[in-house]
Amino acid sequence: MARLVSNLEVWSIVKAAAPSVLSERALLLDVGYRPLSIVSVRRAILLLISEKAEMLHAGEDSVRSERIKLNAPSVIRLRYQVAAPYRRRAPLHRKAVFARDGSLCQYCGRRAECIDHVHPRSKGGQHEWENVVACCRSCNAAKGDTLPENSKFKLKSAPYAPEPIAVAAALRRGIPTEWDAYIVNPLQLSA
Ligand SMILES: [Zn+2]
Repeated sequence: MARLVSNLEVWSIVKAAAPSVLSERALLLDVGYRPLSIVSVRRAILLLISEKAEMLHAGEDSVRSERIKLNAPSVIRLRYQVAAPYRRRAPLHRKAVFARDGSLCQYCGRRAECIDHVHPRSKGGQHEWENVVACCRSCNAAKGDTLPENSKFKLKSAPYAPEPIAVAAALRRGIPTEWDAYIVNPLQLSA
């Protein structure tokens, strides 16, 4: 398909498609099927048509010009090796902390209502993934600024920094099911 498509054709497809479709998101994988980033459908189409990527899963919407019709990509894979991207840490995001912790207080297991700094900020604790947990108000208030080693509040599991791609996917309105296979340790946001 792709070699027969002229640049003009590419632009006619991209121009003809509804802006809402083009701004949808597609998951971009590297050669080894690992998630690289989340890109716009517009960028995904350009990667496909220039043969830099192949389609693994198509979405339901389609884009078309007079000559060709293309299903909007949902998961695409780069055809060539890229230098291993510098793995950035995901920015700390309250919603994503709740998703990581299942919206449950990490001390008592009841429904979480706030974020707790395990090592209190007033005593030098950092605002980072490994030091924040979802927490209920009563545990949060009772724990106060006690240091973990002096506290009767014990964590159910050690807080960790999720993969940036898992956070980005979780913060979307809903992850397409076809993305699930590629995202290790996905975070589930509760509605
Ligand atoms: Zn609690």
